[in-house]
Amino acid sequence: MEGTSLLSLPEGMLIEQIQITENGLVIALIATHPTSGCPLCSEPSSSIHSHYRRVLRDAPCAGRRVQLVLTVRKFYCRNPYCERRVFAERLPAFVEPWARTTIRHCEQITAIGLATCGKGGTRLAARLGIHTTRQTILRRIMALPDLPTASILYLGIDDFAFRRGCQFGTILIDLESSRVVDLLPDREAETSAAWMRQQPDLMAVSRDRGGAYASAAAQGAPQAMQCADRFHLMKNLGEALEGLLAHHLAAECKRQTQATRDSQAPVWQSKRATRISPTLERLQHSRREERLAHYEQVIALRKQGMSHAAIARQVGIGASTVQSWLASGTFPERKPREQSSQLDRYLPSLFQRWEDGCHNIACLFRELVAQGYKGSYESVRDNLVRLLPTGRKNAADSSSKAPALPPSRQAAFLLLHRPEELRVEEQETLVKLCQIHPAVDLAYDLVQQFAQMLRTRTGEHLDAWLTRVESSNLPELQSFAAGIEKDKDAVRAGLTWWINNGMVEGHVTKLKLIKRQGYGRAGFPLLRKRVLHAV
Ligand SMILES: [Zn+2]
Repeated sequence: MEGTSLLSLPEGMLIEQIQITENGLVIALIATHPTSGCPLCSEPSSSIHSHYRRVLRDAPCAGRRVQLVLTVRKFYCRNPYCERRVFAERLPAFVEPWARTTIRHCEQITAIGLATCGKGGTRLAARLGIHTTRQTILRRIMALPDLPTASILYLGIDDFAFRRGCQFGTILIDLESSRVVDLLPDREAETSAAWMRQQPDLMAVSRDRGGAYASAAAQGAPQAMQCADRFHLMKNLGEALEGLLAHHLAAECKRQTQATRDSQAPVWQSKRATRISPTLERLQHSRREERLAHYEQVIALRKQGMSHAAIARQVGIGASTVQSWLASGTFPERKPREQSSQLDRYLPSLFQRWEDGCHNIACLFRELVAQGYKGSYESVRDNLVRLLPTGRKNAADSSSKAPALPPSRQAAFLLLHRPEELRVEEQETLVKLCQIHPAVDLAYDLVQQFAQMLRTRTGEHLDAWLTRVESSNLPELQSFAAGIEKDKDAVRAGLTWWINNGMVEGHVTKLKLIKRQGYGRAGFPLLRKRVLHAV
């Protein structure tokens, strides 16, 4: 095989010498094509004026850098009507007239840049035998021409965050070819409208529910139908539903906690009461009898006119006791002596935490210490085991039999989802959720109707749905419906037409990935090039 075809060199090149050096390969080439076309008049000429050398960097060969030392010629233009007298030989598709790098090598560097980033690209290039710099890579990407935009009929538009989420840009997608057609540096209505004016064939614009793109489409493409994006519709509905659920779940949680407390509190209180043993009880009883007898004796002696000190001596008790008994007027019952522990005053909050689902004793202990508890860990553990003997078991049972109610966000997801796609336990939770309040049940019915309308593209039912919501007495959904009323045509179109921003979201995700690869200091223009030329 000829060396020129092995190295994919253009026709009419002759390899004069291949030299292996420390830095790679140096290939000396001579252009031998008998004629060359004048760049001005295109007339071929065979009259050689002179020879000169061009040194070019080429794509590496088997990991070695390649340098081409190219002997090319200058020709006379023999066309009498042409202004150009002498011209340099051109090698189109191989190297640009004044370039020092072959086109294929430039393409390699660009591809590395698009797939990585400036710094990472430099490192990868070095591993592949390509010597380049970060600046060169960035310059190559910026030199990429904007792709010619064909006429767009269906446009998807959305925003994206850049500069660490401080600034927003706009992404524009051709919904038919699913390609990013442009990025705009902001999300102002005027910028998008100006772009849309360049697209007179636009038939439909799929957009979010925000006002800016709606007015952009109204200004820039008044002929186009606007479609509110289904993803955003569902998102808004989900948020409304989440608000409604949060309200009812909080009420339900309070109710449950109170119910549990009511049913559980006597358990630990009665446990506390029965801690006194029967022997101790008998002892206490006889002590009281003895004390009562003393008391009656004190009263009797006092009536006889004896002094406090004499009574005390007679009865065999302290003078201060005699004094206090006489002052009290009635028999002073001893307060029942509880075996109080350090933990007692913390029991209600401990119990509450346990009910809230924290069953980690070490964690509870730390919380108590933070609240000022001075007792031991063992005491907390023993009391929990003794005073809440069923707590742990109950908690385990309740999680296996009747799943706890999920947080509002998760609950909203369950209500919005296709019921047939839910797992058995999710369906059970859903039933439980609908039972907590009639409002939740009604909301479930309404959101499922809306979701059904969205899935089956039956936007014609929108008005009937809005009427139902209006009479539902569910403020959260009514507020969602009020939002729809303001943008009804676009919402109806979104619920009816095939177009939606699903693929736009996909492109935004891809854009975020490209952004994270680091578009560095070059900012938005470089990001735009990278996204538009991303493969
Ligand atoms: Zn010419």
